[in-house]
Amino acid sequence: MPDLPARPEPTRSGDGHDAPSSLELPHLAAYIAGRFETSGEPFACENPATGAELCTLPTSNRTTVGRAVDAAQTAFLGEWGTWSLGRRQRVLDRLSDLLEMHQHEFSRLESAENGVPIDLVARFSVAAMVKNVRYFASWIDKFGGEVVPVMSSGALDYVVPEPYGVVAILTAYNTPSLFLGSKVGPALATGNTVVVKPSPLASLTALRFAELCDEAGLPPGVVNVVLGGAETGAALVAHPGVDKVSFTGSHDAGRAVSRAAAEHLTPVALELGGKSPNIVFADADGGRVGMGAAVGAFALTGQACVAGTRLFVEREALDRVLPEIVGATHMLPLGDPQVSGTVLGPLISAAHRTRVEAAIQTARDGGAEILTGGDRPADPNLSNGYYLNPTLVLGAADDSPLVREELFGPVVAVLPFESEDELVRRANDTHYGLAAGIWTRDVGRAHRVARALRAGTVWINSYGVVPHTAPFGGFKQSGSGREGGRWAMDMYTQPKNVYIDLS
Ligand code: NAD
Repeated sequence: MPDLPARPEPTRSGDGHDAPSSLELPHLAAYIAGRFETSGEPFACENPATGAELCTLPTSNRTTVGRAVDAAQTAFLGEWGTWSLGRRQRVLDRLSDLLEMHQHEFSRLESAENGVPIDLVARFSVAAMVKNVRYFASWIDKFGGEVVPVMSSGALDYVVPEPYGVVAILTAYNTPSLFLGSKVGPALATGNTVVVKPSPLASLTALRFAELCDEAGLPPGVVNVVLGGAETGAALVAHPGVDKVSFTGSHDAGRAVSRAAAEHLTPVALELGGKSPNIVFADADGGRVGMGAAVGAFALTGQACVAGTRLFVEREALDRVLPEIVGATHMLPLGDPQVSGTVLGPLISAAHRTRVEAAIQTARDGGAEILTGGDRPADPNLSNGYYLNPTLVLGAADDSPLVREELFGPVVAVLPFESEDELVRRANDTHYGLAAGIWTRDVGRAHRVARALRAGTVWINSYGVVPHTAPFGGFKQSGSGREGGRWAMDMYTQPKNVYIDLS
């Protein structure tokens, strides 16, 4: 998952982008073996900023999922498998050109569907999609095997990385375009075929992606898209024709996916949730901490897997740092995601907002202090959307749900600490291990704490930046496997060892 949005502009620029009502929609159908298929029980796709229905999509049932997997298998064993590396690279280059050409369309589709402000979608999720497909295409003529030393002079041993075959790709709603780049990109670059099941809350960009795969000249069946929720996903993961599962989503769904995949011992890569600590030492650069903490926690309205939702602040700096963070939070413009300059949009659904509000209420009932937020915005123009003000909470207990559970909303627990040892113990006291941030000018402490934290990514004096060239993934129950850079190429291949007796 590449970078969180950079520091936002604190002002609005005015008229912004077109309203979602003028959206040009892609084919509203599953995409299998190069054809769009409209059959299936309809489900609604909603704009969370207004509560209005955008369109309906057909649910892919078990039979449809089976046909998608068959199509992917046929393509893998057929035409796709016979293509030279050069031809594969050219088609993915063409695809990245088309994606780039249609960036604005992707941004409008994604923002209308998941409510993430359009500027952020464009700069973050859609930009990452284009960059990743181009980047992984560029790996094709650089990613090879190796000759392995053997003790006998009469033998040769070499290793070739081979694709798995059919990869099932299941994704979350928060950055759907990004996932197409960071998962489909390396899966195809390494020679696999894919069946993509996007979140039912954010499916449209996958369908537009499928149209462009067609236009780019990918053979039918190399990329397939099925539609629906948990049931469709479960049917896909359990299909014996799937050779690898790449999943991004919640901890609970990840567990269900692992169980279902275990039936056929299908290997699974998981990118799951987090409850990441963002740690401010008293010697941190005051000018940067406020915005770093606010954006690190509230980007995507808190619906980011790496959101720094446990904000540890060294107690001696609390009185100085808290006003900075509250001030920075107030500078993040909340409103219509279609308006340029908006930084905080709505949450994905009414039910999700209710869950987040319940956690805030439980903290309040437990005696915690709400430093800012905790309520819905007063603007009547926003009353139909699922908005919630960014919320900072002081005094929630370490064992309370607000501190332990991933809320995936704009809520941060501020947690004062006294010493480095205490900090490391509390920061690691979670079953998650996705990311962490450290703000300090002491270089020794920065490295020491980074080493002690059990997390897949650690930022020092920054938060949320993940170069697409770097490995990204979780420790502990935040996942398994790594996306990004050559680690993704490894993840979508299995080494085949060939031993030759030369006598
Ligand atoms: P979710 O778990 O509800 O859904 C994710 C995907 O799994 C969807 O496509 C959904 O339809 C499917 N699904 C759900 N139950 C399933 C089942 N039993 N079998 C098969 N498929 C199933 O997640 P969400 O609400 O869309 O996204 C939020 C979660 O995703 C958060 O926990 C967040 O931290 C995580 N996330 C992680 C990363 C990462 O890179 N680590 C990135 C983004 C989001």
